[in-house]
Amino acid sequence: MIALSLAEIASVVGGQTYDIPDPQVRVTGPVVIDSRKVETGSLFAAFAGERVDGHDYARDVVEKGAVAVLASRPVGVPAVVVDDVQTALGALARHVVERLGATLVALTGSAGKTSTKDLIAQVLRSKAPTVFTPGSFNNEIGLPLTALSATDETRFLVLEMGARGKGHIQYLTGLTPPRVGVVLNVGTAHIGEFGGRQQIAEAKGELVESLPADGTAILNADDPLVRAMESRTKAKVLFFGEAAEADVRAENVRLTENGQPSFSLHTPSGCSEVTLRLYGEHHVSNALAAAAVAHDLGMSVEEIALALSEADSLSRWRMEVTERSDGVTIVNDAYNANPESMRAALRALVAMGRGRRTWAVLGHMAELGDDALAEHDAVGRLAVRLNVSKLVAVGGREASWLQLGAYNEGSWGEESVHVSDAQAAVDLLRSELRPGDVVLVKASRSVGLESVAQALLEGE
Ligand code: ATP
Ligand code: MG
Repeated sequence: MIALSLAEIASVVGGQTYDIPDPQVRVTGPVVIDSRKVETGSLFAAFAGERVDGHDYARDVVEKGAVAVLASRPVGVPAVVVDDVQTALGALARHVVERLGATLVALTGSAGKTSTKDLIAQVLRSKAPTVFTPGSFNNEIGLPLTALSATDETRFLVLEMGARGKGHIQYLTGLTPPRVGVVLNVGTAHIGEFGGRQQIAEAKGELVESLPADGTAILNADDPLVRAMESRTKAKVLFFGEAAEADVRAENVRLTENGQPSFSLHTPSGCSEVTLRLYGEHHVSNALAAAAVAHDLGMSVEEIALALSEADSLSRWRMEVTERSDGVTIVNDAYNANPESMRAALRALVAMGRGRRTWAVLGHMAELGDDALAEHDAVGRLAVRLNVSKLVAVGGREASWLQLGAYNEGSWGEESVHVSDAQAAVDLLRSELRPGDVVLVKASRSVGLESVAQALLEGE
């Protein structure tokens, strides 16, 4: 973080200083909420959770080198005491980003935020120092912590913004006002909490409403609800997508023999070839969003194409490919699932598995409402049409719909199996897998199918 004195911090957050011998002492280390992450010069923000209360660690963190605690009550060690620690953390983040010389890039969407954030960050950091949200640190606490980790050298700050309801994004953009805002898609994630897709679009669109007139809104031309957000911003708009009218688009999209997407990237500054290291063609859309950001921030199409082609997957359980010593390949995509990414994952599996036996170990896709039956049925049918060798449907009712789809499409009998839980899937695979097989594991987050992938990789 940029060094701030305790006196300055107290004034920014409207707090009282307690037990501070010298208010001019500066915070030079990271601002953290986890006592295990404290370093010399840290500021420790004490949150009272359900099971643990950060205030109980006050002594501990100061012994470890923290300069002070941001707390909601005096704790017997140097502290800045405020009414509400979360609000104070937000105010501090806002103060810091206003002093930074960095350009803020924020992104939201129903699916692909973390994947795209990792791509944007890897492209931008090939140009200049970049700080970005680790993992999915995208809420009212994670976001300020990320912003506070920027330094005077930081040129680009890339922030994932998640929303569980109306007003959430507005709150986050108030803390860290972006100049570039990206909306990826409006899907069905958290649809139960929102009420419907239109409501989700309302909430995600708060991002582009917050942009200044000299900012840029980067919108997915292929998603009608996102395209319509053009009318909600005073910023310049850049469209990305496969649509012919998109400013940044992909042409000639294909999968390589390994299942990695390859395409011609067109930006207003030219055209260049890209082959991603990531698996699954849903990443084409994510890569185009990243390319649009980089184009807006002055990178040439060649620079962008090179950085995209060198970008790795930085977050776990998203099409994570591991080859076992016996030649079995495990593709762990158990982080989450929706119909679109299920289709992309199946296609990648088949491309990767050319000439090998392929297994799709799939669980249910959550939050589909009335479409659940049709969507699961369609995925089961697609597995047959793509010639996947075996389908293992894991779980309850939705898994039986997957299996039924496969049965109805291709009279699949032995090729598809329905098992009740992850352990049963592991038992089955352990006895059936042969060297050379490729196994895709994918379902919604709540299913926790990563345990299957992990069990199959044990001892590797
Ligand atoms: P969260 O809301 O949990 O933070 P996220 O929006 O950050 O999720 P990612 O973690 O990047 O999304 O990806 C989650 C899952 O969404 C992936 O495992 C993949 O199945 C799917 N996904 C990724 N990109 C896309 C996309 N462009 N379109 C549809 N699905 C996608
Ligand atoms: Mg995420």
